[in-house]
Parts: sequence; C-alpha cells; structure tokens
Amino acid sequence: MHPPEVKAEALELIAAGLNDCEVSRRLGVPRRTIMDWRRPTYAPRNGRPRERECCPRCWRDAKEMSFTPADYAELLATYLGDGVLSATARTCRLRIALDAKYPRLIEEVRELIGRCLPENRVDIVQRKGCVNVSVYSCHLPCLFPQHGPGKKHERPIVLEPWQRNLVAAAPWAFIRGCIRTDGCAFINRTDIHRAEPYEYLSYEFSNMSKDIVDLFLEACDRVGVFTRANCNPRGRWSVRINRRDSVAAMLEHVGLKT
Ligand SMILES: [Zn+2]
Repeated sequence: MHPPEVKAEALELIAAGLNDCEVSRRLGVPRRTIMDWRRPTYAPRNGRPRERECCPRCWRDAKEMSFTPADYAELLATYLGDGVLSATARTCRLRIALDAKYPRLIEEVRELIGRCLPENRVDIVQRKGCVNVSVYSCHLPCLFPQHGPGKKHERPIVLEPWQRNLVAAAPWAFIRGCIRTDGCAFINRTDIHRAEPYEYLSYEFSNMSKDIVDLFLEACDRVGVFTRANCNPRGRWSVRINRRDSVAAMLEHVGLKT
C-alpha cells in the first residue's frame, strides 16, 4: 500500500499532463499502480488509444513487453547460449542461431520471443544448416545488459539483481534455455563387453564461459538436479547430469531437443 499523499501527488502529476511512465519514475511507484489510480474502476477504454508503454529498464517509450519469470529466464538462457546482440543504425538486433535440425525448438524460440515482445516482428532466416531467429528493438540492451564486444567467455557475465530474481523464480525455465542451446541429451552405453551392458539417458551442458556454467549449476542446485562439472585443457566446461532421478526430472521439465 502506498501512503495517501503519494497517491495524491501522483494524481496531481497526472492532472499536470505527465504520462504514467514519468509519474511512475518520479515517485518510484510501479506503472501498473499509476494506471490503476488513473482509472480506478478498470473502466473499459471505449476505444481510446492504448496507453503508451515504457521500457521497465530505461523508462523510454517502448512497444509492449511482457515477461513472466519463466519466459524471461528461458529467453536469457537462450541469449547466453546462442544469442548475439548487435547495434544497427537506429535500433538493435537480437539474433539467435539455432541448428536447423531442431524445427520444434526453432518454433518454440520464435513463440517465446513473440510472447515477450508481442508487437515486434520475429524473423526466421535459413542459412546452411542453421536458422537465425531474430528480432529488432532498441530496448534489447536494457533486457540483456550482459551484451558487450567480444565473445561471452572473454568477458564477465554477471546478472543484475532483477535478473537474478527472475531466474531464481523460474530455475527450470533457465535450465531449459541452457540445454536447448548449449546442451544435449544423449544415450550412454556401458561397456558392451560387460556381462550386462545397458543404456541410459544423460544430459550435458557445455560452455566456454565459467560464469555461464556457474549460472547453470546454481539453477540445477535450486531444483535438486545433481551435476558433475569438468573443464578440458582448452577451457571448455562440460556439466554432466546422469543420476537417474535427476535425469527423470530433466526429462519432465526440459524434455528432449527436437
Ligand atoms: Zn529500455
């Protein structure tokens, strides 16, 4: 609850012609609350133009953005895995390069971006063996502050507190995004010369960035998935998940890559 004087001040600023974003920024009150104060009865808008949205990070005007913790966590992991942000003359582009042999995954990444940025066009471009899913928005650097020059494993990848909160609220979605980009599920076969060889499913996540691997391990810890991490001499980390209960949980929440 906000003190009545804050609401009164908000109504004054609204009356003075400030938009919801500006009032929200000045008073440190969520924009939704300002909107409710402006229209307390949830009255139908009677065809009035929709309230202009603003970016939750930089407060500048923006097209609609809509993030559940799960959608944000999955999109962040997808960006950290296979995504690149690049500046164009007037805006910014997020490109996610996916293996063309996983059509369902490509479609789901397209839908994921579509849910998060419902007013932005999502493009799918085929390149040999690879499909680029991309979207343009000048607020992409606000949403992914880990962007920067060079490769991700050559710079620190540190989440901001608001990102940590969203990932902590939806660890499975973060794990799903990690496995779908830099991970895989595969069949392990025990030594065929043994008396009773058998096969079992394992998951692996692999990345050159220790920071990204740590984020993956933290999310696995949070949901009780048992992991074993190794780094090869060339600096590539690989995280194996092969305990039966952990694999069963991964199969349920992450699924296979198709
Ligand atoms: Zn922004």
